Amino acid sequence: MIRIHRLLSAAALAAVFANAALAEAQSDDDQLSLGGPPASNPSKAHAPLEMTYFGAAGWRMTDGDTVVLVDPWPSRIPYGGAAHPDDKRPSYGRTDPAPVDTDLIDQLIPEADFILVQHGHFDHLGDVPYIAKKTGAKVIGTETVVMILRAYGVPGEQLYAVQGGEDYQFDNFSVRVVPGLHSALDQKHYHDSRRYDQDTVLEAPLRIEQFIEGGALSFLARLGGRSILTMGSMNFIEREFEGLEPDILLAGINGSRMGLYDYDRRLLQSTGYPAIVLPTHWDNFRLPYSFSQQDNVEKKLIPFVETAKKISPNSKVIIPVHLEPITLP
Ligand SMILES: [Zn+2]
Repeated sequence: MIRIHRLLSAAALAAVFANAALAEAQSDDDQLSLGGPPASNPSKAHAPLEMTYFGAAGWRMTDGDTVVLVDPWPSRIPYGGAAHPDDKRPSYGRTDPAPVDTDLIDQLIPEADFILVQHGHFDHLGDVPYIAKKTGAKVIGTETVVMILRAYGVPGEQLYAVQGGEDYQFDNFSVRVVPGLHSALDQKHYHDSRRYDQDTVLEAPLRIEQFIEGGALSFLARLGGRSILTMGSMNFIEREFEGLEPDILLAGINGSRMGLYDYDRRLLQSTGYPAIVLPTHWDNFRLPYSFSQQDNVEKKLIPFVETAKKISPNSKVIIPVHLEPITLP
């Protein structure tokens, strides 16, 4: 744990983020009228849900009809230097334009209907301009996120600027926007209040340092009769999670959570001890997909699984493998 934490926080996290200069479904309604939470009623009809982990905070979720992406970032660049001696790709720094691996994205993401963006850092937003333009997907994010996407020429009709609190109904998909907090990086010294708005002049391609946080969000996505609560950071506002009771929680479990009070318990308790928990944002995102994440699995995931078992014995924690779809029947 210590070694991994040092690797991520010193080399990637602090360097990337802490430098200030760098810086559901219709059937749920039926369920509510029956007076029971969605997950608790076995008679509730829902489609099989397929969840695929892209690494970092990135996911693809589909009920076989609608495809929803969350913070998709297949490019996984060696920011600030390679994380493994066998990774021979060129290294990138904060003043470099954020590179986009379009060939890889084309292989992995042929289509998308919605893209949910949890904050503006490049490991969340860097690939979204290309994916949004290519797929025509509707993108939901903060005004900062929307301004960045506009700078890349994503048409305004695709963009929905939100601040948290909204609950939007689309065809076969609805999403509640949940106000959030960014990970407490740099030993809790990280704070970035910068925002972009309609007066901000941005010219694409942006430098990595121009992908500012712009405020952090979670989303309660309702898809195929189930609700999925997303996390893009190792932090959350407890009162905003209370009462949401998602069927599936994408739980942020990277190392910085260790600096927060009683994180695992507060998270699982405030979300109502979800039936399915999928750990997110735990991998070393500076490594390409072909490299093993076993180190992080052993040092971060296994301890979380053990802790979660004690706190929420009825939750099933599934360890995701990059790009391998998890089918929830
Ligand atoms: Zn971030």
